Amino acid sequence: MKNKTGYKTIAAGVALSLVLATSGTAQTPAQTPAQAPTIRTVTSHPYAAAAVDSARLLAADAEPGTWMAAGRTYSEQRYSPLTGINKGNVSKLGLAWSGDIDTERGQESTPVVVDGVLYITTAWSMVKAYDAASGKPLWAYDPKVDRATGQVACCDVVNRGVAAWKGKIYLGALDGRLIAVDGKTGKVAWQIQTTDPTQPYTITQVPRIVKGMVIIGNAGAEYTCRGYVSAYDAATGKMKWRFYTVPAAPGDPTNTPMLEAAAKTWHGDFWKYGGGGTAWDTILYDPKTDLVYFGTGNGLSWSQDIRSPGGGDNLFVASVIAVHADTGKYAWHFQEVPGDEWDYDVTNPLMTADLKIHGAVRHVLMQAPKTGFFYVWDAKTGKLISADKFAPLNWASKIDLKTGRPVENPAVRYTETKAAIVQPAPLGAHNWHPMAYSPRTGLVYIPVTESSTGFQSMAAKDFAPKDRVYNTGTVAFSDKITALYGQPGALGRGNIRSYLEAYDPVAQKVVWRAPDQDYGAHGAMVTASDLVFSGDWSGRFSAFDARTGAKLWSAPVQADVVAAPSTYTIKGVQYVALLVGARGLPPGQVRTNPLSANNSRLLVFKLGATAQLPQAAVAGAVAGKVLDPPLLTGTNEQVIDGEGAYGRYCAGCHGQGGTADKSIPDLRYAPALNSLRSWNSIVLDGARADKGMVSFKKVLAEGQAEAIYHYIVSQANKAKATEQAKP
Ligand code: CA
Repeated sequence: MKNKTGYKTIAAGVALSLVLATSGTAQTPAQTPAQAPTIRTVTSHPYAAAAVDSARLLAADAEPGTWMAAGRTYSEQRYSPLTGINKGNVSKLGLAWSGDIDTERGQESTPVVVDGVLYITTAWSMVKAYDAASGKPLWAYDPKVDRATGQVACCDVVNRGVAAWKGKIYLGALDGRLIAVDGKTGKVAWQIQTTDPTQPYTITQVPRIVKGMVIIGNAGAEYTCRGYVSAYDAATGKMKWRFYTVPAAPGDPTNTPMLEAAAKTWHGDFWKYGGGGTAWDTILYDPKTDLVYFGTGNGLSWSQDIRSPGGGDNLFVASVIAVHADTGKYAWHFQEVPGDEWDYDVTNPLMTADLKIHGAVRHVLMQAPKTGFFYVWDAKTGKLISADKFAPLNWASKIDLKTGRPVENPAVRYTETKAAIVQPAPLGAHNWHPMAYSPRTGLVYIPVTESSTGFQSMAAKDFAPKDRVYNTGTVAFSDKITALYGQPGALGRGNIRSYLEAYDPVAQKVVWRAPDQDYGAHGAMVTASDLVFSGDWSGRFSAFDARTGAKLWSAPVQADVVAAPSTYTIKGVQYVALLVGARGLPPGQVRTNPLSANNSRLLVFKLGATAQLPQAAVAGAVAGKVLDPPLLTGTNEQVIDGEGAYGRYCAGCHGQGGTADKSIPDLRYAPALNSLRSWNSIVLDGARADKGMVSFKKVLAEGQAEAIYHYIVSQANKAKATEQAKP
């Protein structure tokens, strides 16, 4: 019996009565952000830099030239009221200055700009501060994250940005630290460990500052982690509250009555694997409701047959949860994917807005999650207003608006013996990449990726979770999956297409789509001059007409872009800032940044500027790669064993089939293929641990390193044969 528990998706039944019994906290009156019509000038404050406080953040719209939080305002609409750059002059936008970034891993942060200083985080949780007008570097901070942490970061060693508050800059470091540094100097003010460092937790998300508290979650639901969100005193780092998202073992002191009730939606000894449900990206505070919202990720393992044999909703995985800001006490939840087994995290960006629906203005919460359904809820109560498709999907036919539950396609549930093809694939129709909403156009701008993947469960008896590696309990390749993809009319496998989409959340319809030349998602921002700014994976940064999707301006950035831009003014001049550099280079692009193989840079644009990026390839950098593997000497059995082990332990970073075109090497081209001894020195002895490739000696069984070697040699030879067969 799957998903047939007595729980309703919206807080109801047992869940709701528990809240009333245990919380009883009257909601504090909501503070209303000031709607000052004039630009507020900060003339004096007690902080040398990063002088953001509650009053200022609540009134962020009164300072349109400041971008004082990653999402700009508490609504996180990523909408700028600035109009200096508009449709009439955007063609004159040029590069004002740039800053080379000294890491070649992914760059995901949105620049925060306060009182003339621009702050970013880079890969490996480093912070850099610049003069926002001239680009002069002011300070840099490196928390010196142990590179071995990279092994438990599912999707690169990224960081999505800082929070500024009362003279300090806050960041969550990959190794689970929450760190406050001086906004003027970058010197550490305080730091605390928010996670058990012996467990495979990571942090990549932006801390949010709410009522003098720093709020942060964590990641690790693919490993063996249990999700939670915590609030710390911003001045001291002292913990104020913590909300666990899934139950622990029965009787565990962290199990609130709410979690004891949630445990009834699980079966088996799920807590042994941590449970998952990590809230790894979105955290949103709404001053009008005084609620803090976050979305949770998958349960562990992904396969429900292993995680919770017999099914169940598995609360609170794949859910949006609202808690009272002051206490962290439960207010409501909405589980989008009951009993998820497709890695449909709903950690995707949340935003609040006032929408006119059926003639009345509603204060809503919105999300475009991985699943492909766009949700609109009443922000105060969590009552579902609408949920309609913003992208193609096959896992459900619709969301039942009465129950809030998806009407699932029975074909997408998989077992040990039944495979399934599921759309979207685990990276989703929309992932963490920031979306934007314009109150002028009434449209939400969403970076959409279309994809599908095959799922089949491992045999439960073979599932033995291992330390610090993926424990999803699934297989990505099997004869049954291959057979399904071979059927007439089957979906395309893997990545299909991507585009920037404008979606009307009131009419529930797609208004326009601007197709990408090369597949990949990229954050967005919209301005009051009806311009949407977004980068892409073809090495371009572009401005689109927010009403039609017409491309009005575009500039080369020499890198793949995943991050979202921000915009600000200095002395009346409007600037647009963007961090570029994902995990590879755009097609045909050479390396021009001596510090970074993927041309990671901070780029800042303004009207009439004419700075140029360097065109010459960095001396000594390899422009083209040579595919020259040794002949395959392994047995068929070794190649098959190697494929399985590679899929479980290596593919998360190096890509399926060893084909990653990222700064993480494509193993088919690895010089180490020429010598099993050098291969083993890396895989088993940790020869490249300083670069994040730690030893897998404790993880791999006897002979598995060699089996993976033969599998990659086999893949490389296949690719070489394909290359040679080309005319
Ligand atoms: Ca996940």
